[in-house]
Amino acid sequence: MDQTLSAGLERLGLSLDPQVRADLVRFGQAVIEKNKVMNLTAITQPDQVAELHLLDSLTLLKVLPLEGKSLLDVGTGAGFPGVPLKLAVPSLRLTLLDSLQKRMRWLQEEALPELSVEARFLTGRAEDFAQTHRERFDVVASRAVARLDVLCELCLPFVHQGGYFLAMKGAGAAEELKEASRAIQLLGGSFERTEAFDIGGVTHRVVVIHKTRLTPAQYPRAWARMKQKPL
Ligand code: SAM
Repeated sequence: MDQTLSAGLERLGLSLDPQVRADLVRFGQAVIEKNKVMNLTAITQPDQVAELHLLDSLTLLKVLPLEGKSLLDVGTGAGFPGVPLKLAVPSLRLTLLDSLQKRMRWLQEEALPELSVEARFLTGRAEDFAQTHRERFDVVASRAVARLDVLCELCLPFVHQGGYFLAMKGAGAAEELKEASRAIQLLGGSFERTEAFDIGGVTHRVVVIHKTRLTPAQYPRAWARMKQKPL
């Protein structure tokens, strides 16, 4: 895992301290170990964990400077992309959000304390936290949670004006972006750019959305409504 991680970091033009690399590998190994008894991820080979979880998460370091920023990871699952980012940038003020209690308890009570990593935890549905944690975060990031139109409604309310929403997407990014253009506008966002990264021979894309106006109070709607009738 260490070799794949080091080679990938070089490819991305990222330089991290040996101690940070060692902590990233420890976290990757902890995911593999826990996955034997708890469903955390379909990716279980060490090389793939290095590429598809660790390096993919770290691409966000190439998109925005994160030092000292507050970042919310919506639908973090086993901690991606939030935990690798916090390991790489200790000054990041990280909040992890997911509705799956078992995964969140593992992160909060085992995985993060073992790495001496501090984070805040919001266990529940994103749409339910959007009123209490509205317009609060410098950056919101999310990977593999929903299509972009629905994801924007889940995530943009949390971003403060002037902040950014980073949506980690695959090959379908351009099509999803077309579908989501009305939602981005209605929710107070403005599409800025898409960045592409080669991860394990596959192009991954990060859609960068700037929050330029407040999100109207009626968003996000209830989950069923969002899914049934995306904006
Ligand atoms: N982001 C992680 C990754 O890329 O490895 C996990 C992706 S997993 C496929 C999707 C996660 O999003 C699940 O853990 C699920 O519980 C969470 N999720 C989906 N919809 C959500 C919502 N509305 N609020 C909170 N969590 C949600």
